[in-house]
Amino acid sequence: MLPTELRYLKGIGPKKAEVFARLGVRNIKDLFYYFPFRYEDRRNLKKIKELKEKETALLKARVAARRFKQIPYFMRAKTHVRDIFEVVLADDTGKINCVWFNQGWLADKIKVNDEIIIYGKPAVKGSALQFVSPEFELATRDGDDSLNLNRIVPVYRLCPSFTQKFLRKTIFSSLAEFKVQLKDPLPFDIRKEKGIPNIAKGLEEIHFPVSWDEAQTARERFIFEELFFSQVLVYLRKARRSRQLGPVFKISDELVKRIKSKLAFVLTASQENVLSDIFADLAKGYPMHRLLQGDVGCGKTVVAAFAIGICADNKRQAALMAPTEVLAYQHHRTLEKLFSGFGFKIDILLSGLSKKQSEAAREKLKNGETDIIIGTHALIQEEVEFKDLGLAVIDEQHKFGVAQRALLPKKGKISPHCLVMSATPIPRSLALSIYGDLDLSVIKELPKNRIPPKTISVKEGKRKEIYKFLRERLVEGRQVYIIYPLIEESEDDDYKSVELMYKKISREFNGFKAAKFYGAMKHEEKIEIIEKFRNKTIDILVCTTVVEVGVNIENATVMLVENPEKFGLAQLHQLRGRVQRSELQPYFVLISSDKLSEEARRRIGIIEATNDGFKIAEEDLLMRGPGDFFGSLQHGLPELKLANPLRDMEVLHQARKFAYDVIKNDPQLEKAQNRCIREHLAWELLEKDDSNA
Ligand code: ADP
Ligand code: MG
Repeated sequence: MLPTELRYLKGIGPKKAEVFARLGVRNIKDLFYYFPFRYEDRRNLKKIKELKEKETALLKARVAARRFKQIPYFMRAKTHVRDIFEVVLADDTGKINCVWFNQGWLADKIKVNDEIIIYGKPAVKGSALQFVSPEFELATRDGDDSLNLNRIVPVYRLCPSFTQKFLRKTIFSSLAEFKVQLKDPLPFDIRKEKGIPNIAKGLEEIHFPVSWDEAQTARERFIFEELFFSQVLVYLRKARRSRQLGPVFKISDELVKRIKSKLAFVLTASQENVLSDIFADLAKGYPMHRLLQGDVGCGKTVVAAFAIGICADNKRQAALMAPTEVLAYQHHRTLEKLFSGFGFKIDILLSGLSKKQSEAAREKLKNGETDIIIGTHALIQEEVEFKDLGLAVIDEQHKFGVAQRALLPKKGKISPHCLVMSATPIPRSLALSIYGDLDLSVIKELPKNRIPPKTISVKEGKRKEIYKFLRERLVEGRQVYIIYPLIEESEDDDYKSVELMYKKISREFNGFKAAKFYGAMKHEEKIEIIEKFRNKTIDILVCTTVVEVGVNIENATVMLVENPEKFGLAQLHQLRGRVQRSELQPYFVLISSDKLSEEARRRIGIIEATNDGFKIAEEDLLMRGPGDFFGSLQHGLPELKLANPLRDMEVLHQARKFAYDVIKNDPQLEKAQNRCIREHLAWELLEKDDSNA
């Protein structure tokens, strides 16, 4: 077996081991999997005479002269230059100047007659070329150049106390020493079928490739490996669940008809399809584990309501968890109305309730008096107990971490059915790889009566005209949200800015009633304001993003977002979803500051150009990269270091197929050829546990 602890390696004491730990490297295997993030082609050393302006070049030369100059404090003000270190480099073809600013420590390091290696782009100065702050390495004193010169050289992410050279040497010598002991985590048959190098060869080639081809093949191996293991985990979870028993629900046609008769609308075809998926799951006998995806406003709540009604009809308890109190309150209200006369006992549990109220709610839940409970994170607190939880629904699931999501179904005595809902539409293949342990249902259409929002994006200078436009809508009888880009957590700032804005808005729109609304308000206060907004006593809601998810008020068809550049794409799309709730024309107005970053301009451009949640999510992914979607907190999957499921879609499909076959034939990973998978997973999971601690 591989020795696990780094400090047993030559040249690595406890101090260095600590630094490695900061890079996420805790044992030798971690070290081997600390892949370079790029390479430098250093096979092509240039002579000074061959250098060209602005052409990246690698130069090896001798220090012919050097000069170190410190700039007195009183002369620095404008340039911030504290010191200048200059050397003259020479080889048998000529001389070139090289200068570094504010890197005084170099003066101690680089001496006359040292051989140094420079990597950078020369610039013209006067009539000659010079290097300005290039990358450099000493060639002479560290001796062994075989890893750092005349080859394709790996470049690692570093922390200040390590050098590239040190890391290259450490990885190289550890690989040499331990490669015979390495066990390949990928089964032999899979490697053979895919024609990919074994682990020792793969590691050697990803760290120290002798050609670009080799680097590429090695990377492909590890991209496959990452995706393969993420999919193995996904299928393992799924297999584990299918061995559990779940509640078997009888689907009463009569109940379904009765719920439908209470709706003011007809379900869309998409909603009907999704419902039949869910009904099949509920009747099957093992726990449903389904992700319901659908753009903002497509009507996910009502779908969940059917499942909840069926659960209660089967005399089991149902729970619906939402990320904010406002949304939980609204769901409570919706279900009370929908199920009035059904005889179901519906209750709500929020952290904003008084101690007495929450105790009463918990008591009723425990002794089975409550059939349906709606709540926030308060539902997953330790002291909450169910008599007999049969269905757990999690709304806006992306607002919860993976650990939090897992807590609600755990409250059941036997595994309950579980429905998670999300308005973040991601491409199907990506959804499969992230949520692959869930079955996926998608609501593909919005209700027919919806009119697409008009998005109006302006700069500060147009504020007067925008206010005039808002006033016209108010006169027509519509209501308005004004959103301020403040984080809910910083309560004080939040309060101040909303307060400030509120005063301005009240003055500007005299004759109309404005109200403040933000996260840190008391629960009762929030409810009071939302109710007043709903019954039109309030015309304008001046608020933070506390309304971002789920709030549903049909007559509020106009939203003004201040400083939209401070919001992400997904968030803007969610916010816009607030005003597209009925057959009234919605308006989404953005007033951005005069100076915008390139990225902010792109984001706002995309929001202006399309209402399609799937397109927006894809752009979002491209701009942010999939890293965010793969955070282990969100999905509980091992972190992807090399693979990008969007770019590597093809490999993902293959990996998925291999993983499926493995788990199908050996669901507990007991066969000899799969022992390697088991061991590797144990290592991966160990890692994750560490980082969660
Ligand atoms: P989301 O999917 O964003 O959670 P909601 O469930 O809040 O959306 O639904 C948004 C609004 O659409 C609600 O007012 C709901 O009553 C309404 N709605 C849902 N389904 C339909 C439908 N088939 N036809 C018309 N309106 C619908
Ligand atoms: Mg919703």
